[in-house]
Amino acid sequence: MIISRAFAGRTVAIFGLARTGLGAVKSLRAGGARVIAWDDNSGAREEGHMAGAEILPWREWAWEEIAALVLSPGVPLTHPKPHGVVIHAADAKVPVIGDVELFAREIRPDGDVPGSAPVIAITGTNGKSTTTALIGHILSCAGFDAQVGGNIGKSVLELAPPSADNKNAKTIYVLEMSSFQIDLTPGLRPDVALLSNLTPDHIDRHGTMENYAAIKQRLLKQVPKTGQVIVGVDDAYGAAIFSGLNGAGAVAWPVSVGKVLGRGVFAVDGALYDAQNGRAAKVLDFADAPRLPGTHNWQNAALAFAATKPFVQDTRAIAKAIASFPGLAHRMEEVGSIGKTRFINDSKATNADATARALACYPDIFWIAGGKAKEGGIESLEEFFPRIRKAYLIGEAAHAFSRTLDGKVAYDLSGTLDAAVGSAAADAGASSVAAPVVLLSPACASYDQFKDFEQRGDVFRTLVARLPRDMKAAS
Ligand code: ADP
Repeated sequence: MIISRAFAGRTVAIFGLARTGLGAVKSLRAGGARVIAWDDNSGAREEGHMAGAEILPWREWAWEEIAALVLSPGVPLTHPKPHGVVIHAADAKVPVIGDVELFAREIRPDGDVPGSAPVIAITGTNGKSTTTALIGHILSCAGFDAQVGGNIGKSVLELAPPSADNKNAKTIYVLEMSSFQIDLTPGLRPDVALLSNLTPDHIDRHGTMENYAAIKQRLLKQVPKTGQVIVGVDDAYGAAIFSGLNGAGAVAWPVSVGKVLGRGVFAVDGALYDAQNGRAAKVLDFADAPRLPGTHNWQNAALAFAATKPFVQDTRAIAKAIASFPGLAHRMEEVGSIGKTRFINDSKATNADATARALACYPDIFWIAGGKAKEGGIESLEEFFPRIRKAYLIGEAAHAFSRTLDGKVAYDLSGTLDAAVGSAAADAGASSVAAPVVLLSPACASYDQFKDFEQRGDVFRTLVARLPRDMKAAS
């Protein structure tokens, strides 16, 4: 645990006692702060109490005693409208921050004194978790103590403090940050900040695409002059943000899949290149990195290469580590095969853009989609419709999706994941195509039928494991 000492002897209020909130309670208590807290969920309140918080309904808080409000990133700060607790904090002039801000006040990046360690911060619409995990993997392979967390795995304050002596491996923090977390973290000065890509997502929580892009951009602007900024430039927003950086601040590196760059990191024709002064050196053949399938993963690998280069001088060591990356669950994860049919769990694809990446990877797809719909639906996926042998639609979005597919793609209104897996497996097994793929890539959030995307993916994996092994006989 990283102990937050910034509020020793003062009172901090915490709203939201999920993973990040609980981490903050423990860290602040260990640092000598008094913590009052609230969560609408009684189970969460109990956990907060056990962790050392005084549980008090937020409307009863004495704001004049409160030095800061630590807000869960799941609670609306601005849109669709600020939560009441945020409005009260603003009226009382109490700063509203997140757990990463507590981390930032404790860990001084960039420097060789105890208590300091470099920080790499990763954001973007898609690919954050894969890129974050891959960066952690590369740094671990290179002998660093890579502490990976934030919006993935452990909350930042649950991570280990920097290794204090020269006997242990040097600590580097690798933090995945959602836009909600950036909004609550004005004081983080990462040594390296990385923006993977930007397409519309979570617009309900950010008001407009422009505001969403501005928040992501803010993280890049927080990098000190001595640091480095890495930007995926293949979408219009990323390209505009990169050209807006204009050399005044940190060194900025572009990353592309498909474009040959004179300077930066790019992937073309199945290989990764590192370019400087107009000369490109080949780093890796993606055929050697089997757990990073698809061009979207080439982007993730290119980003991770660029982000680790300042720390790992031997680029061959980075390439070797990329090739040995084991992959992440729920991201185009192969969870089984029956006969010629492969089953792919891409439950993490919660928007159409993420799903597009998966649809681009296979020619004959039995596609399971739906859930809690996102703005824009699946109209943008039309170019992939010829690859879809049949769609199996589930959850709240099923009817809306069926209207988009009508007359273009055969579909079943399966309703549940259970029914969808059974039908898709039977149809794939009975089909005449050479390499059928049953793909769960929902292009939707999961909350209508599942706790989260992990649970949705786990249920898919279990359903696949329970399928009769001889699907032809079963169908
Ligand atoms: P995030 O943490 O940003 O949600 P993940 O690495 O968990 O990103 O990947 C989420 C989904 O997005 C995956 O299911 C995958 O299909 C898709 N994806 C992964 N990387 C990219 C990328 N670079 N560009 C677009 N889509 C991607």
